[in-house]
Amino acid sequence: MSRQHMMWMQSELESLRERGQYRSLVDSEPRPGGWVIRSGRRMLNLASNQYLGTDLLQIRQELGAFPAGMGAGASRLITGHHPLCTRLEEEFARCKGTESCLLFSSGYMANTGVIPALVGRSDCVFSDRLNHASIIDGIVLSRAQCFRYPHRDLDRLEDQLKKAPRGAKKLIVTDSIFSMDGSMAPLRELAELKDRYEAILMVDEAHSGGLYGEEGQGLVHAMGLTSRVEVQMGTFSKAYCAYGGYIAGDSMLKDYLINKARSFIFTTALPPAVISAVYQSWQSVRGHSVRRDELQRKAEMFRQRLQEAGFDTGGSECHIVPLVLGSNEKTLRVSEKLQQEGVAAVAIRPPTVPEGTARIRFSLMAIHSDEDLKWALERIIRIGREEA
Ligand code: PMP
Repeated sequence: MSRQHMMWMQSELESLRERGQYRSLVDSEPRPGGWVIRSGRRMLNLASNQYLGTDLLQIRQELGAFPAGMGAGASRLITGHHPLCTRLEEEFARCKGTESCLLFSSGYMANTGVIPALVGRSDCVFSDRLNHASIIDGIVLSRAQCFRYPHRDLDRLEDQLKKAPRGAKKLIVTDSIFSMDGSMAPLRELAELKDRYEAILMVDEAHSGGLYGEEGQGLVHAMGLTSRVEVQMGTFSKAYCAYGGYIAGDSMLKDYLINKARSFIFTTALPPAVISAVYQSWQSVRGHSVRRDELQRKAEMFRQRLQEAGFDTGGSECHIVPLVLGSNEKTLRVSEKLQQEGVAAVAIRPPTVPEGTARIRFSLMAIHSDEDLKWALERIIRIGREEA
């Protein structure tokens, strides 16, 4: 690279460092019981999205090896559409109570492909201000007019819906559980608004898939809203402990997306081995109702303990419990100290969260023991107070 290009990159990196926003990669190897080795140090993993602690190695031992095939060879519309895709899509849709399901290579690709397929230049998107980056990127790609409403603010959303030009398609899009806050979207009220204003409702179930409903079908299903949410999106990378994204909804939607979603059309299909792993992992997660209950019980205990100690846990209502600290520097110090003491506590800073709301995002796993959690809480509370 030329010196000139090195210089502007260097100066951008320095400015990120000055603002406490510089990020770097840390080697992380999962260990049983919800632990992890990070940079050679053993830590309790309070930063994983494998919320149920589903163990793919164990599933493999129980159910046998996944079929070979680490390359699909082509996109789904060419020759990459392995019969395993059809099986997973049909059975998964049946479980969720939708007519159909369509696999994407990742949740990020589902959001960046589906939103531009649904709305374009002369349409409007209404997006909760705390929605995930992949939703924001999907909106940018769609070129639709974007109205960002304050977090869960239904009055502001309604004002914005009234401003949409006549004839414009309207898409309301929301996370079901907000990834950095652990708060929940008011799904019932959103469904009412979308009916009133003839909008489409799209719900990202990345952090609720596998965790709500009798078989982990997600929050939309658990709240009895399946027929009222046109587009359910999710990922197999979190509670399902595998990889890949999906869209669930009517057959017409699936047919439309196969023809219009560019991130579906123009990429190689997921490897058959991954689809097989997703299938087996999903089967295992369906039966994990005890773990689902355990996860929420542990999260409730964890959150309450932090609140009693006077900490700000934001709007958390689930297994994601932020410790909102405010400044980037303070958050980095707390994260560093906690990691030194064996708690994997990762600093989340802008632009992932709004300026001035830097935090440690704790995410619990059903397999964390009560003793380990109490051990971690003692350290979090002590270090949090030292840095207050
Ligand atoms: N939506 C939300 C709310 C997410 O948190 C994530 C992952 N961080 C995604 C979508 C993207 O999913 P994937 O990791 O499968 O790309």
